[in-house]
Amino acid sequence: MKYYSTNKKAPLATLHEAVVKGLASDRGLYMPAQIKPLPKSFFDNIEKLTFQEIACTVADAFFGEDVESSALHHIVCDTLQFDCPVVPVDDNIWSLELFHGPTLAFKDVGARFMARLLQYFIKKEGRGQVNVLVATSGDTGSAVANGFLGVDDIHVYVLYPKGKVSTIQESQFTTLGRNITAIEVDGVFDDCQSLVKNAFMDEELNRHMMLTSANSINVARFLPQAFYYFNAYARMKEQGKADQLVVCVPSGNFGNITAALFGHAMGLPIKRFIAANNANDIFFNYLLTGIYEPKASRQTIANAMDVGDPSNFARIIDLYGGDHKRITSLISGATYSDDMIRETMADCYCRTKYVLDPHGACGYRALREGLKADEYGVFCETAHPAKFKETVDAIIGADIAIPDRLAEFMKGKKQSVEISKDFNTFKQLLLTQIVH
Ligand SMILES: *Cc1c(COP(=O)(O)O)cnc(C)c1O
Repeated sequence: MKYYSTNKKAPLATLHEAVVKGLASDRGLYMPAQIKPLPKSFFDNIEKLTFQEIACTVADAFFGEDVESSALHHIVCDTLQFDCPVVPVDDNIWSLELFHGPTLAFKDVGARFMARLLQYFIKKEGRGQVNVLVATSGDTGSAVANGFLGVDDIHVYVLYPKGKVSTIQESQFTTLGRNITAIEVDGVFDDCQSLVKNAFMDEELNRHMMLTSANSINVARFLPQAFYYFNAYARMKEQGKADQLVVCVPSGNFGNITAALFGHAMGLPIKRFIAANNANDIFFNYLLTGIYEPKASRQTIANAMDVGDPSNFARIIDLYGGDHKRITSLISGATYSDDMIRETMADCYCRTKYVLDPHGACGYRALREGLKADEYGVFCETAHPAKFKETVDAIIGADIAIPDRLAEFMKGKKQSVEISKDFNTFKQLLLTQIVH
């Protein structure tokens, strides 16, 4: 399969190139040249298949031309070592729980898949160690570090701003050791990001070591998110509740919902989609007006969705040829202030005892408000509420339990290297770590 850039000014790339580069040379996002529809027989019997079987079929359609079938299925099964169940919450509303992975958020699926796919390509080419550089303000670092943990021939450097990441988040990438190095930068997130950008542009570094990024626009992180939407459909069909299915995705950079839209384009029978936003309402306004006006991001309690210029918007536009009418006939929007998110979390807990996190709360509320009588709704619970324990406890007036695997991280010993925001210090650090 070839991959083209949404800006259409970069050469076509192979899957391997698209995964290593992340972003195309014209700064566009890679799109697969074809989206292969899955046969009717697959959907007719999908409820009889397991999550892993379903995911293997979807993975074959995306990556089957580029990765041998047995290797691909191994990557899929190794990625999905945890379930993504649909759990009933309220009248006609189910939660697609995406927080059962190692860092308790949906980004685990894409990060784990990308790590294993990259390892497959490295082994095949025998080109030695690959170094993944990732700058994080919190959640991305933990998903990427844990996704790559213990994967041979790959070393991950997580750069994060000293003192600006919560203790829980920090523990998820500083206690791992092995092939993960946490670098604490005396600066802010933007300093971390510029260190990474400078490293990619530094000729000497690139001569000595193979560098790659693992950010969320990477096709190997974004496409595998389609797996759990097919599975959600299957599990709802099992219960006879898959007609008139509405999928609602709490969205920031819009990678998660775009993967669901790819599923739809492959024939997944979802009636319509809702993109639920916090106060960052850029996509919501686009749906209303047809005009895309990026803004500076606003800080909210659903902070993983604080995005003022969603990167995957370009993919949605590309997928539907920029046709606003087509887009609004399939996708609707919602936007909620912090107060509305709080009210939703408290109300849902009070009536159903289900604990929402601030991101999932946007999705749940959009279904409560927008679901019609004959529809069934599934919203993504994108992170475990315990990741935001202080916020959640204060809102619902409870003391929610911290899952064991989160507590385990917090017990670990912090290992990190402290550096200034000066590029040369970072470069020297990388150069001394080279493995020959
Ligand atoms: C990243 C993230 C989101 C937003 O997902 P996008 O793919 O960027 O739209 C929502 N919720 C949580 C908990 C996240 O970590």
